Amino acid sequence: MELPGGLITEGRLRKDFSFVPLTGDWELFVRELGQRVSGSPQWVTELLFHSLSSIGGEEVNKARVCALSVGDRQYLLRQLAKLLDDGPHWLTATCRCCEEPFDLSFSHSQLPVKEAGEGYPQKTVSLGKHPVSIRVPTGEDQHAISHLSAERALDTLLSRLVGCEPSLSISALSAEQRQQIETVCEEMAAEISSEIITHCPHCEAENRIDVSPNRFLQRAGQTLLTEVHSIALAYHWDESTILKLPRARRQTYLNLIDQSRGMRSQSAMGAPV
Ligand SMILES: [Zn+2]
Repeated sequence: MELPGGLITEGRLRKDFSFVPLTGDWELFVRELGQRVSGSPQWVTELLFHSLSSIGGEEVNKARVCALSVGDRQYLLRQLAKLLDDGPHWLTATCRCCEEPFDLSFSHSQLPVKEAGEGYPQKTVSLGKHPVSIRVPTGEDQHAISHLSAERALDTLLSRLVGCEPSLSISALSAEQRQQIETVCEEMAAEISSEIITHCPHCEAENRIDVSPNRFLQRAGQTLLTEVHSIALAYHWDESTILKLPRARRQTYLNLIDQSRGMRSQSAMGAPV
């Protein structure tokens, strides 16, 4: 699998990555992590650190997870959400205009991904009189600004992205120059869609529906303990054995248990088996 952006490793842009097997133990970890630090940059870093087995051919540590661009981190979350359950997911939204409810469905794999643009992850542009180097934001930047107010967070982020230019003060930048930095970043950055734009079936108004992967990963493991219970009852395996099963194999056993129950109830009713 390949990242839409990539990470510079020993001077080369590497896009390859792999995940650990997504077992019940993994789902239990995600569920318990969500109860502690849901949705924050720290949550994303912890989740990716425990889900990736390699980035760019190298072992995963938290520094490498933090060095990934924000777009790559979101892309990886979407891949995990897809592996967990690609859907189709049915959502009920309330129209922002007529306030009527309506349904829509989507699959994670159908949502578009913007690949990184020219110059990624860093390029030099002219900002007024200054030639400056601008890079895309990373997880490390998100960690650095996560505790700041919105206004201070933006200034701090901009000063990190344009690097150390002693003659350049971020607070002295014009609105146009700030916009220029943001535009350069957006053009370079990889990105995933976190919204679906759809029209209300009642009044035709445009609505934006949140389909960010965080929302779906926070549901990981919701039915896990019920599933472990069903398999333990049927096969008499212990919890740690069941939790080591990859998700797909666990689902296969659950289907087999359902089928055998169906066969038993049909047999009890006198139907041919
Ligand atoms: Zn409407």
